[in-house]
Formats: sequence, C-alpha cells, structure tokens
Amino acid sequence: MSQHRPKIVAVDGPAGSGKSSICDAVSRRLGWTYINTGALYRGVGLLALGRGIDLNDSAGIAAMVDQIAPGLTWRGEDRTLWFEGRNLSLEMNSEQAGYAASKVAKQAAVRDCLLPVQRQLTLSAPIGALVDGRDIGTVVFPDADLKIFVTASLEERSRRRLNQLGSDADTQSIDDIKAGIAKRDERDQGRDTAPLKQADDAVVLDTSDLSMDESILALIRLLKDRGLVD
Ligand code: C5P
Repeated sequence: MSQHRPKIVAVDGPAGSGKSSICDAVSRRLGWTYINTGALYRGVGLLALGRGIDLNDSAGIAAMVDQIAPGLTWRGEDRTLWFEGRNLSLEMNSEQAGYAASKVAKQAAVRDCLLPVQRQLTLSAPIGALVDGRDIGTVVFPDADLKIFVTASLEERSRRRLNQLGSDADTQSIDDIKAGIAKRDERDQGRDTAPLKQADDAVVLDTSDLSMDESILALIRLLKDRGLVD
C-alpha cells in the first residue's frame, strides 16, 4: 500500500512579501495545513539569544539545535511554535527575532537539522500543506505539486512592515525598516547554503499592487489551475 502523501504547495519569497499572511488565510479557507518554516528559524534564533550563544558560533548553535529540535512543536490549529511549554510565537515577530533567524539560517548545520523537521511536519498534513519559507521549492520539497514565488517591491514590503508594527514601530522610520529588510534580503540571497532564489519551475506572484484579498484569490486561482483544489 502506498504511503499517504498530502498535496504540497511550496511558497517562497523575500521578507515582507505577504506570503505568511496569504498562506495562513488560504489554508484556513481550504482546510489545509499551513507550515511556516520561518517560525522554526525564528524560534532557533530566539532560543540561541536567550541562552547567550553567539549567533556566529556555528558549532554552538548546531549543538543547541540538535538538542532542541525534537522538542519543537508546531501547533497547526493556531499556528504557534512551542518549546518546553513556552509559546515562542508570542516573541518572534520582532525585528530582533527576524535578524537572529537570518543569522542562524546561514549555517548549514542548522539547516540540515531543521530539514527533517520541516518534512515531517508537512507530510503529516491530512489533505494538503502550504509550506512557506525561502528554500521550500528548491531544497525542502523540490518535487512539490506547485511552487510559488511571492514577491513585492522593497518599498511596499517596508510600508507593510511599518503598518504591521503599529505602535511597536516606536522610533523606527520607514528608512530604518527598509534598510533592515534590504539587509535581510541580502543575507538570505547571498548565503552559500540554500539561498533564497526562485525555483526554475515556480510561478511568480507579485503582490506589490494587490490587496490582501486579491492576493488570497490569486493564490487560490493558482491552486485551481494546477488541479489541486476544486
Ligand atoms: O519568513 P520569515 O521572515 O519569518 O523568516 C525569518 C528568517 O528565517 C528569514 O529571513 C530567513 O533567513 C530564514 N528562513 C530560511 N529558510 C526558510 C525560512 C526562513 O532561511 N525556509
């Protein structure tokens, strides 16, 4: 008997392109599972910061990831990442967590360790999974049923990030945010291991001029066109 394999849609793209919000909404509408792989990297970054491990200390971080990976739990119903009774998702939306994530994500040993975690979480989806990240279509699921590369201009991504931060934006100006996102793009695209890049067979979804609702409908249309949903 062949093993159950859910339908898998890989959604990659740069920081702030809207992929997480779109995947979250679409998966709820379709009753699919949503796996936010950025949360895993953010969780690892947060735990490393909390333990005082230098984010450039590859060996130290790899040893920590080896130790913690079995205890990381992704709760699909409310899209939260837990470790030993701590809801890491409550702390992971800060720029500091995004920065720490992109530092630890550069390290091959960290990526190797999180690879089976991402595959296992996805393959346990009952119907289908929308998996978002940077290397899902290129490395984690090169045989995904559909690959989408979600993008938007740097200006638009920075504006959205400022809105999202609301009063937490504090003294940060749009220029600070733009510089932070540009730096993270550079780090994600320039790293040696699994850099952010569009898979050859990915469909591009540019959300620069789309509202959230339009983006959601555009993604559902792509799934329909591929025959993944009715
Ligand atoms: O998607 P999000 O912005 O939450 O991801 C945080 C960081 O984690 C990214 O900037 C990237 O460096 C890293 N990441 C990654 N591979 C993934 C998902 C996230 O390298 N599949």
